[in-house]
Amino acid sequence: MHEFKYKGNYLCCEDIKVLDLAKQFGTPLYIYSYHTLIDHFVKLKIAFREVEPLICYSVKANSTLAILKALVDKGAGLDIVSGGELSRAIKVGCPAEKIVYASVGKTDREIEEAIRRRILFFNVESLPELENINRIAGRLNKVANVAIRINPDVEPKTHKFITTGKITNKFGIDFNSAYKILLIRNKFSHLNICGLHIHIGSQITESTPYVAAITKMAKFIAKLKRRGIDLEYLNIGGGLGIIYDKETPQTAQKFAQNVLPILKKTKLKIILEPGRFIVGNAGILVTKVLYIKSTPKKKFVIVDAGMNDLIRPALYDAYHQILPLRMTDSAGRKTEKVDVVGPICESADFFAKDRRLSCVEEGDYLAIMGAGAYGFSMSSNYNSRRRAEEVLVIKDKVFVIRKRETHTNLTRNEIIPLFLLGL
Ligand code: PLP
Repeated sequence: MHEFKYKGNYLCCEDIKVLDLAKQFGTPLYIYSYHTLIDHFVKLKIAFREVEPLICYSVKANSTLAILKALVDKGAGLDIVSGGELSRAIKVGCPAEKIVYASVGKTDREIEEAIRRRILFFNVESLPELENINRIAGRLNKVANVAIRINPDVEPKTHKFITTGKITNKFGIDFNSAYKILLIRNKFSHLNICGLHIHIGSQITESTPYVAAITKMAKFIAKLKRRGIDLEYLNIGGGLGIIYDKETPQTAQKFAQNVLPILKKTKLKIILEPGRFIVGNAGILVTKVLYIKSTPKKKFVIVDAGMNDLIRPALYDAYHQILPLRMTDSAGRKTEKVDVVGPICESADFFAKDRRLSCVEEGDYLAIMGAGAYGFSMSSNYNSRRRAEEVLVIKDKVFVIRKRETHTNLTRNEIIPLFLLGL
């Protein structure tokens, strides 16, 4: 599944000892395996080859330029949600006709820039947004391509914060409203409504919710066809789950087997927007143990990474496996139940709670696994902490893909008004 394996006593990323990287680059440190990243992309591409889909990697999962460039060079398109992500997509040379743009709150400026760049299409999430894109395209004397994001009202069986396809979620447009919009599509003279989109949630481990949602979409597409409304694209979003703990997610092949028969019936061009599936297990966060603190009720392993580096446990109560970089650090030692916590002034600043781990000592390093998706991209400078360094490993070579921030980086956009300086 991924290229982080023990060779002898040492955890390695491809052909390099993670311990050597931690010592060379310092911690907290994000390490990515190039081959794992590409392998996941290729697996999906092969699984869906019958329909030759456009796979638009979801930039939000990990937007570091080198990660984007690696995927774009292999033929990936990009799924973006902001002007910032559009600028990243352009920077790595992603062809505009492979960019799709979702988000419930696109600003006029973002819409204008995307129209000028001639992206493949917007995934439109409301009638007011549709009207706004039509107005802006009119002002620019252009026709913008759009897909309607449908909210299919299915239960994806995942964490409530990453559930996006239920009717109570803010995303997409319900079938009835979408139908009414499509009936009056000619009113939008500066829009080409060319497709439909769904994205029902993230970290979905079974195909059943997808089958349910795509079946509803196929019926809707057939109904539209009967009314003479022909579309070109069906974008089925992302959301494929990965293994963090004991999950047994469907493989790309199994997923494809279950949804392909329905997709083929639609005869539309298929788009996928995976993020986590591609990058999740391709990255780890390495951290150093600063202190071991025993209290009457608990033992805390205090590490130098914090919730600002990886917020998933705090935000979603997410599980991440934690491994020693050197087996001999723990071999022969007892295990004990500990909380692995960061230095931040929040009780939500933890990576594991009541977790049985091999005993660790101050100065040991730990690898927080499965940190490639929604790790660095959700990181912040909370507590004025510098964001981590990121490196990419290809076999026995390592490349710095983002330098660790400096304290100067943190304050560079701040201004102390002259009056506070007594001037
Ligand atoms: N597409 C859209 C519209 C999303 O909102 C997301 C994630 O939130 C994705 C794709 C990627 O999801 P995942 O990383 O679970 O594949």
